[in-house]
Formats: sequence, structure tokens, C-alpha cells
Amino acid sequence: MPNFPTPLLNLLNWKNVSLKIEATSATILDWLTINELTALQCQQYLEVGSDTIRRIEHPEQSAFDVIETEVAWQQTADAFLLSLPSLAEEIRQVCDCAPKCLADKSEKIPQAFTYDLGEDTLPFVSVPYQGRPFDLLAMAHEFGHALQIVSSKNSKMPPVARECCAFLGEVFLLDYLKRIETSQTIGVSAAWEHDNHTYLKPDMEDLCRSLMTVTAPYNYRWNYPVARVLATKLVSEKSEDIFAKLFKAGAAAPKILADAYDSFRE
Ligand SMILES: [Zn+2]
Repeated sequence: MPNFPTPLLNLLNWKNVSLKIEATSATILDWLTINELTALQCQQYLEVGSDTIRRIEHPEQSAFDVIETEVAWQQTADAFLLSLPSLAEEIRQVCDCAPKCLADKSEKIPQAFTYDLGEDTLPFVSVPYQGRPFDLLAMAHEFGHALQIVSSKNSKMPPVARECCAFLGEVFLLDYLKRIETSQTIGVSAAWEHDNHTYLKPDMEDLCRSLMTVTAPYNYRWNYPVARVLATKLVSEKSEDIFAKLFKAGAAAPKILADAYDSFRE
């Protein structure tokens, strides 16, 4: 690993525990460096995001059949197995062995999170599951984080790539629901589009403003708009090979993402 200064190490070790940024003096420049992005590259990705948001409608939520927590967890694993068969062993490890709390403790812990417990230990996954479409997406998102940690062995993935893996997990779930033709599909699709509005409007606008100010203090949410655009682009190519490479890439993930994005544009 390159010899990063302390603020960057704080970013590298950030564990998705909450959206609060712990004491760090990291800035937008540190964030670009750690994700191996340039401001120009970032702006190009964000332009794609602006186009996307112009084209989608703000969907209505519809009636939704709630499924039990363990059924939802197993369904999430099945969705990953369908899209990432080459990582079947790691998917089963996360599904069957990773420590987790899926009980609804949303009053105390409103955010889902995945905690990297360190070398050779499975990560801890927490999702305050209430059976809503957003909860199914959150479960797939956190499963994606856990799988990326397990598949990358002991190599730490920078945050944009990490969030990209988690968003891919959400798309794997959507694809799976469409495949099995369940009534959940409409609700989960609507939740995905609703989230797009958050990631590609307020989050993206904040990132755009911060890119103009080199000293803007780090905000974890900057990772979401870039990761959302990259995940959507990767998914449109439907390459299992690239998905698997990305989940296993650890610290090398930014290069894989940049190469994949460039190759799709050619
Ligand atoms: Zn995440």
C-alpha cells in the first residue's frame, strides 16, 4: 500500500459505521486521491448522472408483500449467486457464516451498516429490517459490502469502489426479482428510483460544489453519486467477469473501474 498520510488512512479504514465523519482533516483532494480520481473524471461521471436523473420519473410507492427476514436474506444470497456464480463460495460464506443483526432496531440504529472486523474474520452486517422495499435494497447493499470485504481478502477497497459493489448488489436483487416474477419487483424498482433522486440530486450537487473548493471537508456521501453512475454503467454491460474482478480487487478496484468505464465508452 502507498504511504498515505493519516487523514487518508482514516478514509481507507472507514467502516460504514455511520454517516458521521470521524475526526479527520481530509478534504476533497484527499478523497480524489484515495479513489484514484481526477476532478475532470469525476465531473464526467457526474454529467452522466445528471442525464440519468433527467430521464427518470419520481415513482409512487405501491402495495408490497412483506417477506420474513431470513427468507429475504436467503433471497439476497440467491440474487448474488445468479449474477456472480464464480463467487459462489464467498457468497455462501457471507450468507451462512457472517455475523449479523437483521432485527428492527431502527429506533436505536436507523442506518444499515457493515463492519469490517479485520483480517481473516467475516464482516458483521446490520440491517434494521422491517420488510419494506427499501429494506430489501439495504440488505442487498450490505450483502454487497460484506461480499466485497470477503472476496478482497485482506486488501482494503477505497470507498467509491466499495459503494459501487454495494450498488451492484442492489441491481443483482432487482434482476433476480424480475427473473422470478415476484410482486416485490415493482416496489423494489420504485425504491431504487427513489434512491436515485437522493444520490443523483442532493448528493451530486454537494459533490459538484465541493469540487470547486479544494479545502471542502470530506463528506462520506460524496462516494454515492460517482459509485451509482459507475455501477449503473457496469450493469448495462452485464459482464460477470468484471463484476467478479471488482469484488475481488481490494485496493486495485479504482483501476478496474476506470478501465472498465473507458472500455465501455470506446
Ligand atoms: Zn454502502
